[in-house]
Amino acid sequence: MVIRMRHTRSHTKNRRSHHALKAVPLSVCSNCGAHHRPHHMCLDCGFYNGRQVMDLSTEKAKREARMQAKREMIKGEGSIPQPEKNEVSEPVAEDTTKTETKAKKTTKKKPAKKVE
Ligand SMILES: [Zn+2]
Repeated sequence: MVIRMRHTRSHTKNRRSHHALKAVPLSVCSNCGAHHRPHHMCLDCGFYNGRQVMDLSTEKAKREARMQAKREMIKGEGSIPQPEKNEVSEPVAEDTTKTETKAKKTTKKKPAKKVE
């Protein structure tokens, strides 16, 4: 940063005076009384402008099922495969390294002898 580019404190504060976040205006649902974004469907009951736009009971059930499946997936991934991977990978890696090293040693020795 060059001094030429530096702003005064008042300049910086002036610029930042417009950075404050404004509260989102919310309107009240005519059906259930919950707050929702204006000109948007109520996320609690699915009503918009006095009529039902979306059947949220089935949507909520689907979402619950999806979330449950996801939770089970995460639980399965988090608990079971990690120790399995560790248990499986270590002996396999050892075996492969041993065999590979043996194979490499044998293969290395043979061409070395052939070359020399
Ligand atoms: Zn509502």
